[in-house]
Amino acid sequence: KTLIEFEHVTKEYQSGERSFYALKDANLNICEGELVVILGPSGAGKSTLLNLLGGMDTVTSGSILFEGEDITGYTDDALTDYRARNVGVVFQFYNLIPTLTAYENVALMRELEEDTMDPLEALGAVGLSEHIHQFPSQMSGGEQQRTSIARALAKKPKLLLCDEPTGALDTETGREVLKLLIWMSRVKKRTVVMVTHNSSFAGIADKVIRVRNGQIQEIIVNAEPKSAD
Ligand code: ADP
Ligand code: ADP
Repeated sequence: KTLIEFEHVTKEYQSGERSFYALKDANLNICEGELVVILGPSGAGKSTLLNLLGGMDTVTSGSILFEGEDITGYTDDALTDYRARNVGVVFQFYNLIPTLTAYENVALMRELEEDTMDPLEALGAVGLSEHIHQFPSQMSGGEQQRTSIARALAKKPKLLLCDEPTGALDTETGREVLKLLIWMSRVKKRTVVMVTHNSSFAGIADKVIRVRNGQIQEIIVNAEPKSAD
């Protein structure tokens, strides 16, 4: 079942007289429960694509359908509501609140959303039960990223968006985080979309979308995606 669909989506920026396409005529669809990897070099348009998927940016032309509903005409308020209801985001640099503990960072979701997971359960799921009272500065990069994944998990989003989630981590820690995202997809049945310039991640995805110079170059469906090991 299709969760999200792009129809001729273009994002254009003006600089003086000239216009520039961060994304041009993109067509794609993402199904429920799919693990999607968006690959491409720096400046290709990956973040633009992710921001549009998450309602964090708006199109210049074209349509984005979420569960069949066109969200491109949404007002700012409606988009804010769309994000709150449907979208969880994991960033390269975690974006945790430094003055709050791991527990408090995850528990914050309860104030924003009604139907959330118990913070202890979410932190337990990412293997951080022993670290719940630590502040971000007292945790390793991998632990901070796992906290941010627990925060996204607690929100129970239909769509989990990850922007270079392993970009700030060493190879081994990155692999652990990747395994966790695969688990979110395979076990928790979340729709996970991950942006990376690391083409070694292509094998684990159900679908790989290759982007270059603002254009989708190819979309590859993997019949038998690999595990992270
Ligand atoms: P990627 O994530 O693949 O590195 P981005 O989607 O961030 O690529 O950017 C695609 C292109 O659009 C880049 O050339 C970038 O400089 C440009 N771009 C992104 N955001 C803006 C903006 N707000 N204003 C102007 N140009 C932008
Ligand atoms: P990433 O490395 O995650 O792909 P970028 O370095 O391309 O991100 O962009 C980081 C942020 O800076 C983006 O959110 C984008 O909106 C903004 N940005 C990128 N390029 C430009 C630009 N040429 N003009 C204005 N803002 C830009």
